[in-house]
Amino acid sequence: MTMLPPGSTIGILGGGQLGKMLAIAAAEMGYRCHIYAPEENSVAAEVAAEFTCADYDDVAALSAFADSCDVITYEFENVPVAPLRVIEEGATIRPNIRALEIAQDRVEEKNFASALGGRTAKFATVTSPEDAAAALDTVGYPAILKTIRMGYDGKGQARVHSADGLSDALGQIGQQTAIAEAMVQFEAEFSVILARNAQGEIRFWDSPRNRHDGGILALSVLPAGALIEAQRQEARKLAAAAAQALDYIGVMTMEFFATAEGPLFNEMAPRVHNSGHWTIEGAVTSQFENHVRAVCDLPLGDTGLTADRVEMENLIGDAANDFAKLFADPNAKVHLYGKGAPSPGRKMGHVTRLYR
Ligand code: AMP
Repeated sequence: MTMLPPGSTIGILGGGQLGKMLAIAAAEMGYRCHIYAPEENSVAAEVAAEFTCADYDDVAALSAFADSCDVITYEFENVPVAPLRVIEEGATIRPNIRALEIAQDRVEEKNFASALGGRTAKFATVTSPEDAAAALDTVGYPAILKTIRMGYDGKGQARVHSADGLSDALGQIGQQTAIAEAMVQFEAEFSVILARNAQGEIRFWDSPRNRHDGGILALSVLPAGALIEAQRQEARKLAAAAAQALDYIGVMTMEFFATAEGPLFNEMAPRVHNSGHWTIEGAVTSQFENHVRAVCDLPLGDTGLTADRVEMENLIGDAANDFAKLFADPNAKVHLYGKGAPSPGRKMGHVTRLYR
């Protein structure tokens, strides 16, 4: 594909806040976005040129969508792969479908990272309630059961502290195939966020220290501190190797635990990521802009910091109801996603603060 000029149409699979922020960045750069999502109330569609509301496995609708787009990308990582394989021949999909396929499956993802030299928490697969006890014996207690597919924001996860809690935990995740993963004694969590273009050039943003509450990202802070800075290089090496192995085009994120033994790979997102939202104000080029640049074959932008310290706080559930107070804070850059009624655990917006 040659460079896509402004005026071209970028198709985005998924209609949430990541698509919204991508579409806003694309619009600023002169591109049009066409959102494809199954839900009628798409916050991304509200800021995009076109919207197709159809199921992800509706091949006819997907084909028509592909015909209207110059390049297709995604903001949701659980888009089924099989229908995309059908439309792939006549369409340019970036990042490619293989990246999506790996990120959708926790076992594949961990094996992929291990094959590239990354280390992961100890894990064992659980294919039936009968073999769960054996899997837990392999990894030891305490552990976390995680569904192999469709987990996000702490959903599809249950902690198990002893053999007595196992059947409860299995009930919580709904009898799906899962992994049992050893609980990691981490010092901190961080992410590596990179953009890679078709020429193979890679740019990293600085790595934030991430705090999760109940499995949901609550806070990303930069600088991340000495421990993460010491482990960042090894983590970047793995992320770069993964991007190269996949011939990846776009923004990719890998999440890590910083442990006494070094960085442990947790998971990868083949897309822009919540722990990169701070880049809108805190970096010269945001993750959203560089994703658009990469998928359109434009030169990548500078990923340098614009402040000495950056903090991004997620507004989860009711936290967004405090909007008047947030808007009154002169140092708060408030982003509200326009999702309507808050519910517990739902990401409603975020606030970024820069300190110089
Ligand atoms: P995940 O969906 O795998 O990214 O998990 C969400 C969050 O749950 C992580 O960012 C951690 O805060 C926590 N978590 C997940 N797996 C583990 C683990 N093996 N040990 C300790 N904490 C974990």
